[in-house]
Amino acid sequence: VFDHVVQAPEDPILGVTVAYNKDPSPVKLNLGVGAYRTEEGKPLVLNVVRRAEQLLVNDRSRVKEYLPIVGLAEFNKLSAKLMFGADSPAIQVKRVTTVQCLSGTGSLRVGAEFLARHHHQRTIYIPQPTWGNHGKIFTLAGLSVKTYRYYDPATRGLNFQGLLEDLSLAPSGAIVLLHACAHNPTGVDPTLQQWEQIRQLIRLKGLLPFFDSAYQGFASGSLDADAQSVRMFVADGGECLAAQSYAKNMGLYGERVGALSIVCKTADVASRVESQVKLVIRPMFSNPPIHGASIVAIILKNRDMYNEWTVELKAMADRIISMRQQLFDALRARGTPGDWNHILKQIGMFTFTGLNTAQVAFMTKEYHVYMTSDGRISMAGLSSKTVPHLADAIHAAVTR
Ligand code: PMP
Repeated sequence: VFDHVVQAPEDPILGVTVAYNKDPSPVKLNLGVGAYRTEEGKPLVLNVVRRAEQLLVNDRSRVKEYLPIVGLAEFNKLSAKLMFGADSPAIQVKRVTTVQCLSGTGSLRVGAEFLARHHHQRTIYIPQPTWGNHGKIFTLAGLSVKTYRYYDPATRGLNFQGLLEDLSLAPSGAIVLLHACAHNPTGVDPTLQQWEQIRQLIRLKGLLPFFDSAYQGFASGSLDADAQSVRMFVADGGECLAAQSYAKNMGLYGERVGALSIVCKTADVASRVESQVKLVIRPMFSNPPIHGASIVAIILKNRDMYNEWTVELKAMADRIISMRQQLFDALRARGTPGDWNHILKQIGMFTFTGLNTAQVAFMTKEYHVYMTSDGRISMAGLSSKTVPHLADAIHAAVTR
């Protein structure tokens, strides 16, 4: 009965790793997927995560019972504090509801399905470009997806005018997807002044902001600094949604730990909203997994472990920032034509190099360097040892 099923294309991001794994070359380099690697090119489990896991294993009182539909209560409370600030008035007056979901992706999906059922305007504006999964998540959740201008290839920076124009033309009530920090794939974020202008426009037009926070702490090394955009939108008393992921900042990728917060006008509304979010989650995955959320809760509630986490997180962020400098220096040393300052200016895990599809294909074929065809490279996949090879590849691609 399935004879008619045709082969689906590989995922544009995860497919890069599939191709990389098939390449026998000893110099091959995978800069496709956004996962942290050490200087030695190895995945990293944070020390503090190992410690938390040890505590979990040793605690015989812990059982494997189902969590409630909305997940681990303690995890939800601590996640909201992390996102909105320890002394957030919105949390104090209980106008925020937070539910545990399957990492960032699952949080976006649950938030989107809730909006498709209960929000009067089912159009969502996503930046152009954005993380490749956004459009599909929102479409399948029942929203209608439109884009707003975001990136300016000429400056390799923000097209701020275009962004403001497009959002000011959006219909009242439309949802706007915003990357809280470290925009993926461009690494280009608005300044705080620009965020303030975006906030004013969104509130003036009655648009609904939906933040995707996949890199809190990973962009600048500071958890608070990377949450400032979101907190501005909560401080004004208005509504918003936020999808949090612990994949990058705690290195819990495969544990699938995340949270969806919906910030409402009042506690009463928040409580009714939560009751409806439960109706979205129950038939989708019933209730979320317990292990990863328990790790996060242990770390967030223990001052010592929290501090240890921030040190390890900053070390990851700093290594990425140092890779930016090393790649920039290596291109300069080779006299590679072009202005490569954007490598230093862009924020977070990725550099949007500006290399085109043909140049990327050349680098993969001749230099075994794997990256997404839009020219995005994961700085987290680089090391001091591999920077020269990448610089050689980029040099060859642009001078060919
Ligand atoms: N949003 C953005 C912008 C991302 O880059 C990612 C991860 N690549 C995610 C969400 C979701 O990641 P996860 O589901 O692994 O938390």
